[in-house]
Amino acid sequence: MIDPAALTGSEIPSIWHQTWTMLRWSNPLGFVFTTIIGASFGSFANVVIHRIPSKMSLLKPASHCPNCHKPIPPYHNIPIISYFILRGRSACCDEPISPQYPIVELLSALMLGSLYLLNGWTIDFLFQSGWMILLLILAVIDLEHYRLPNSLVLSGVILSILWMIFSPDQSWLDAVFGLVTGFGLAGFAMLFGRIFKGEWSGVGDLKLAMALGFTFGPARFFFLYLVSSIAAILYFIVRRGKTKERRVPMGPFFAVGTWITIWGGAEVVRWYLGFF
Ligand SMILES: [Zn+2]
Repeated sequence: MIDPAALTGSEIPSIWHQTWTMLRWSNPLGFVFTTIIGASFGSFANVVIHRIPSKMSLLKPASHCPNCHKPIPPYHNIPIISYFILRGRSACCDEPISPQYPIVELLSALMLGSLYLLNGWTIDFLFQSGWMILLLILAVIDLEHYRLPNSLVLSGVILSILWMIFSPDQSWLDAVFGLVTGFGLAGFAMLFGRIFKGEWSGVGDLKLAMALGFTFGPARFFFLYLVSSIAAILYFIVRRGKTKERRVPMGPFFAVGTWITIWGGAEVVRWYLGFF
């Protein structure tokens, strides 16, 4: 577990921080509960993944079968479990259900459960979870449609502004420098891509990079971008010759990079400081 007080030294914890630290619960029940909540958010993530690219409302209509459009009763809509009970086929019309549904729910459950172990129920837990669910949604949409919808990236920025307001460990100056770093690195990648006729990095990636830079500050974002880029380059090399597609969806790699940064971010900052 990372103790935020150890990172900022003399900083006095805010009321918010103290309250959330008190709410922290080292009981395994807390972990189980958070994991179940994570699976439910995964279920909602699936709705967003399905509806945002086709500009549908997130609230109406209620869950329905994508094949025959019949409503799905709640007892057939239990995250992860229903997929296995129904043996991967819809109850209404016996069509195969995409494994994407249980996979997204499982990933969301595991992410929130392990972020709880990292932070307990703190402000950092809330915002890291929010960003990871958002990145999971962006990753799947990017894989399917090669785009990162503005509304989702903007939701991330709003989340980060709230994080700044409520967390004593975030600095506005760092955020602005991070945003500029994001613009610089992803802008360079975009330019480089145009010159060499690849389309590895587009305007959507630039916006997401700026949002992540704003969230993590320049030092941690530089690490995040490095990890994401290395993963994307490896993927590009492995895929070469197997497809005519020149574009690389950066969403999944930014999600992986962010995940690693959340877990190793404090260490990374310490490592940087070792150079000065
Ligand atoms: Zn159906």
